[in-house]
Amino acid sequence: MIEYEAVIGLETHIQLNTTTKIFCGCKADSWGDPPNTNICPVCSGMPGVLPVLNKAVVEKAVLLAKAMNAEVQTDSYFDRKNYFYPDLPKGYQITQNDQPIAIGGFMDLPMEGYTRHVRIHKLHMEEDAGKTKTGYGRRLVDFNRCGVPLIEMVTEPDLRSADEVAAYLIRLRQLLRWLDVSEADMEKGHLRADANVSIRVKGETILNEKTEIKNVNSIESLRSAVEKEIKRQIKEVEAGNTIEAWTLDWDEDTQTLSKMRSKETMADYRYFKDPDLLVVHLDEAWKASILVDFPELPLARRERFISEYELPEYDADILTSERSLSDYFEQANKAYGEDPKRLSNWLMNDVMRLLNELDLEARDLKVTPEYLAEIIKMVDANTVNTSTGKSLLEKVQQSGKSPKEIVEVEGLAQVSDTGAIREIAARIVAENPDNVEKYRSGKDSLIGWFVGQVMRESRGKADPNLAREVLEELLK
Ligand code: ADP
Ligand code: ZN
Ligand code: MG
Repeated sequence: MIEYEAVIGLETHIQLNTTTKIFCGCKADSWGDPPNTNICPVCSGMPGVLPVLNKAVVEKAVLLAKAMNAEVQTDSYFDRKNYFYPDLPKGYQITQNDQPIAIGGFMDLPMEGYTRHVRIHKLHMEEDAGKTKTGYGRRLVDFNRCGVPLIEMVTEPDLRSADEVAAYLIRLRQLLRWLDVSEADMEKGHLRADANVSIRVKGETILNEKTEIKNVNSIESLRSAVEKEIKRQIKEVEAGNTIEAWTLDWDEDTQTLSKMRSKETMADYRYFKDPDLLVVHLDEAWKASILVDFPELPLARRERFISEYELPEYDADILTSERSLSDYFEQANKAYGEDPKRLSNWLMNDVMRLLNELDLEARDLKVTPEYLAEIIKMVDANTVNTSTGKSLLEKVQQSGKSPKEIVEVEGLAQVSDTGAIREIAARIVAENPDNVEKYRSGKDSLIGWFVGQVMRESRGKADPNLAREVLEELLK
C-alpha cells in the first residue's frame, strides 16, 4: 500500500491590539459596537482623504518579526490590491506585496518526540476590510472593521499533519500574547488561519496541487477540517481522480467543507505601489528602541525551565503558557530558593485554581510571588501544616496581609508540641471506648478517624503526623 504524507502551509491574519486603526484615528477594536459607528472619511474610503501610517503597527510587526527570526527590512512600502467587493469601500486594500516589512524566519515547533522546523515565507502589514451580512431582506455592510491593522504571516509548506497545524497555532497565539502584539482570540477573529493542503507520496519532494481551507474560527475546528481534507484527497487520488485547486469553506455547524470557488490568480489584483504613502524607513535607532526590552520567548524559557530547574516538560509547558504566570514562577523561585518542582506543584495546583476562580492573571494576585514562597517555607519548616498553608493562600488573597502576620494574629501555627497533642488525643481515646475497642480488635482504618478528631479539636493546627504517632501509641 502507498503511504501518503500531508503538505500544509498556513496563512495567518493577526489583528494587532493597537489603540487606533492603521491609517486613521478610529478605534482599532470595535468588537460589539453597532455597525458603522467606528468609521471616518479615511477608513470608509471617501474621496480626497490621505492615509497616515500608525507607528505602533510597525513596532508590533517588528516585535513579531524578531520573535519569528525573520529579517526585518530597513525599507518597506505599501501596495494597493485592487478588487471590487461591497466590504471594501475604496475598491482596493492597502497591503504590502513586493517589499514587505519582514522576510524569512522560522519557528521550531516542539512535538511529541520530535521538533518540526517551520519556515516563514514573509510577514506583511495591511488593513482589514469591512463585513457584509444579510438582514431586513437585504445585503448590508458594516465598515467598522475597515482599516483595522493586521499582520499577514505566511509559512512555507512545512507542516505535515493536522496536529502540527494545531500546535503551530497554539504556539503562535501564546507568542502574540506574550509580546502584547494581539489578543489572538480566534473566536473574535483576532487570529485567522487559512490552511493550504496537499498530499504526496511519502518520500517525494514535489509539491502537488493544493486546496485552501477558509473561514475556520477555532484551533480545534481547523484541526478537524485539515484532517478531513487530507483524508478526502487521499481517497480521490486512490480512486484515480486529480485534486483541483479549490477554495474550501468550513461550516462549523455541520463540521464539513464545501467548495467555495476556484482560486483567483495573482494578476487579478493589479498590485501597484500606493502613491499616498511614504516608504516605511526603519533606521537602526528606531529598530533598537523597539527591541530594547525584547523579552525571553516562551519556547526558550520552556527549554530553560527544563534544563535549569529540571522541571518535567509538562510543568514547563504549563508554566510558560502565559507570560505573567511564567514571570510569577521565576520570582517565586528566586524567593523560595528550594526545590523548583515543589514550587511548581503549588503553582499548578493551588495558585492556578485561585487564578481560575477569581479570573485573574498572576501579576494581579495579592499573593505575591514572595508571599507564596513564604507560605511554602512555613509548611516546609512545619510551622503550619499543609492544609493551613493552602488556606493561607486564600486568606492572603482576601486581606493582602503577609502570611506570617495572618499566622500570628489568627494563631494558626501548627501544634508540634507532643504534650499538647497527647492531651487532646488522650481525651478523645477516653471519650470513645467503642471505637477504641473496634480498633484494638483489628479495624486499623479507624486510625484515620482518630487523627481527624484530633485535627478537629485542635482547629486544624495539630501536626497530623505527630497526632498519628501519639494515637498509635495510646491505642496499642
Ligand atoms: P498561492 O499563490 O496559491 O496563494 P502561495 O505560493 O502564495 O500560493 O502559498 C500560499 C500558502 O500555501 C503558503 O502558506 C504556502 O506555504 C502554501 N503552499 C504552497 N504550495 C503548497 C502545496 N503544494 N501544498 C500545501 N501548501 C502549499
Ligand atoms: Zn477611520
Ligand atoms: Mg498567495
